[in-house]
Amino acid sequence: MINVTKTFLPPIEEYNKYLERAWNKQWITNRGELVLELEEKLKRSLGIDNIIITNNGTLPLQIALKLFGKGGEIITTPFSYVATTAAIVWENCKPVFVDIHPNYLTIDETKIEAAITSKTTAILATHVFGNPCNVEAIEAIANKYNLKVIYDAAHGFAVNYKNKSIFSYGDVSTCSFHATKLFHTGEGGAIFTEQKDLHHKLFYSHNFGHNGPLEFYGLGINGKISELQAALGLAVLPYMEEILSKRKEVVSFYNDNLDFSKLQTLKIRKDTDWNYSYYPIIFENEEVLLKVQKELNQNNIYPRRYFYPSLNTIEYTKGDKMPISESIVSRILCLPLYVGLSQTDLITITNLINNALC
Ligand SMILES: *Cc1c(COP(=O)(O)O)cnc(C)c1O
Repeated sequence: MINVTKTFLPPIEEYNKYLERAWNKQWITNRGELVLELEEKLKRSLGIDNIIITNNGTLPLQIALKLFGKGGEIITTPFSYVATTAAIVWENCKPVFVDIHPNYLTIDETKIEAAITSKTTAILATHVFGNPCNVEAIEAIANKYNLKVIYDAAHGFAVNYKNKSIFSYGDVSTCSFHATKLFHTGEGGAIFTEQKDLHHKLFYSHNFGHNGPLEFYGLGINGKISELQAALGLAVLPYMEEILSKRKEVVSFYNDNLDFSKLQTLKIRKDTDWNYSYYPIIFENEEVLLKVQKELNQNNIYPRRYFYPSLNTIEYTKGDKMPISESIVSRILCLPLYVGLSQTDLITITNLINNALC
C-alpha cells in the first residue's frame, strides 16, 4: 500500500542511544538535557535565535491566541488543517475568514483589510504546504491597524524566505513535529518569536507559569514535551539533509512527468527555499478528482484530499462563503511524497493519473 506519506524512522539503535542517556539520568521530562540539546541543535540548523519545543503544534497556537486574541475576532484562512480554526474557537475567539489566493493557496492579503473591524485583535495565517504567505503585506496591514500576527507554520520546517527561516516572521510562529510532518518527534511542536519579552511570556505560558518551584509569573498551561520524544527528534535530525534531497527527487519526478495541460500544482512564492513537504495537484473539477482517486485506490495508492473541507463550512464556524477556498478543496489531492517512494511506484502513479485525465 502506498500512502500519502510515510513516517521517517531512524535506525532504532540511534534512538536507543539517546534513550539510554535519559535512563542513566533517570530524568524523563521537565525540560531535561535531551530537550535542551534538541533546542540548541534546531537553533543552529534553522539559523534562529529562539525556540521553545512544545508537546504538539496546536497548543502553541492556543497559547499565542490566549495572549493576543482577547476574545476578539481573528482574521484567518479557510484553507488549512482544522487545528488552525479549532484553536481560535477553543480560545473563545471568533474566526473571520478571508479567502485564499488561487495559485499560492495562502490567505489573499489584498482581502484582509476589508475584513478588519474594531473587534479584530490578530491575524492567524497558515504557510500552506510550506509556501510562505505574503509576509511583508501582512506585516504592513498589522502595523497599520495595530494587530498581532501569528503564523501557523506547521508545514514550514526548513523553509527559508528571503534567506531567513520562515519561523522568524510574524509576532509568533508555530510548527508541528507530528509524525506526519517533515521533521518529527512522534508528537511535538514548537513556538517561535524574535521578541525578548514575548519569548519570556510564551516560555512561562508553556510551563504552568512557573517562576521557580514556588512562584508564578502568570497564567500558564502544560505545553512541555518529554525526553522520550526529544530523543526521537535528536535521532531524526541528522537525516534532514537526506530527507530533503530525497523528497526533492520525488517532486522533480512529478514536475517532469505529470500532464500539466489538465492539472495545476502549487505555485511557490518568489525568494522561497521550499521544503518539498507536500505535492498537491488541482484538477479542473471534483468529478475528475474522484475519477483519479478511484483509479489510484484500485491500485492500492492512497493520496489524500488535503485540505478538506473549507474551514468556513464546518458546523461550529459557519463563516461567510469563500468561493476560491471552497472550489480548491473540491479539486485538490496531495500525492504520495516520502523518503523511500520508488521510481517504479512513481511511474505507476503518474501513468495512472495521466491516463485517467485523457
Ligand atoms: C499538523 C498541523 C497542525 C497541528 O499540529 P499537531 O502537532 O498535530 O497538533 C496545525 N496546523 C496545520 C496546518 C497542520 O498541518
